[in-house]
Amino acid sequence: MTSTVPCPDCDRTATVLGRFTLPGPDGPAEFLRVRCAGPLTLLVPVAEVRQPVERP
Ligand SMILES: [Zn+2]
Repeated sequence: MTSTVPCPDCDRTATVLGRFTLPGPDGPAEFLRVRCAGPLTLLVPVAEVRQPVERP
């Protein structure tokens, strides 16, 4: 299953590569690794991601 989210950096569609939890100053935080147009991947806190966009 592939899901996409709006890229928080450039606002284009980004593909979600994975979801995992990292320890943070306020306790564990959930992150998504996403890839948008190009070879770059980004780590995005789930709290900063808007509703996933489902594409047919
Ligand atoms: Zn982007």
